[in-house]
Amino acid sequence: MERLLFGISGLPLGNGRKFNYASAISYLKEFELDAMELLFVRSINVSDKNKDAILRNKLAHDFYLSAHGSYFINLNAETKEMQQASLERILNGGEALSKVQGRSLIFHPGYYLNSSKEEAFSSIRNNLSRLKHQGIDYRLETTGKGTQFGTIEELVSLCKEVRSCKLCIDFAHIHARNNGSLKGYDDFAGILQYVSGELGRAALDDLHIHMGGVAYGVKGERNHLPLQESDFKYLDCLKALRDFDVKGCVICEGPRVENDALLLKRTYERL
Ligand SMILES: [Zn+2]
Repeated sequence: MERLLFGISGLPLGNGRKFNYASAISYLKEFELDAMELLFVRSINVSDKNKDAILRNKLAHDFYLSAHGSYFINLNAETKEMQQASLERILNGGEALSKVQGRSLIFHPGYYLNSSKEEAFSSIRNNLSRLKHQGIDYRLETTGKGTQFGTIEELVSLCKEVRSCKLCIDFAHIHARNNGSLKGYDDFAGILQYVSGELGRAALDDLHIHMGGVAYGVKGERNHLPLQESDFKYLDCLKALRDFDVKGCVICEGPRVENDALLLKRTYERL
């Protein structure tokens, strides 16, 4: 990627205007944002009916599209059938995303359930290695709860072993999972240093990032918050992204949607 793009998760607020994905792209472009993450979390909502309009606006506005895959993915599920169903959910999401020339399919790989961390890792790795190439990147997202597989170390190890997988660093999740661990610049810089040390400079040249305010407790994330009403140190985070010359896409999550995404973009530009 040539630079760092900024965008939102799902549809914009737009002062109560009604949007579909295609009209949202035009609106967000005018709002001076660069990207949108389609939400396939409950169902895949790109179909043969709406794909042409989405693709037309994406190309006309040189807009970046990613998608968040199903919430019902567990590559460490109890039975092989359930694991296979999860793989199919990932593949179906990838297929829909590729119809609109999206780049990255983001998902949470699974849960530990009763497995040890090592058992969960190997079952998830074996399933990920069965994903066929679809012309998109599979992005493993750092997760916000201790019961979910997906520390940064686990995902970096998977990316080393399964070539079709890349990282999605959700800084809010890392912060919440560890009960507020990202306290300042050095914490963000440490993560970026670790990622580039393990996966090479290429990982920072094309990184997918989730960011936002988050409420959390000892068990991890609770809900998203507006950036400025949270303890998330977005200024330090953006400074670290700039100092490491990170390129790729930042998706802002939270109730202020495009307003917080633009706050991140403008703050970053002024650094
Ligand atoms: Zn997610």
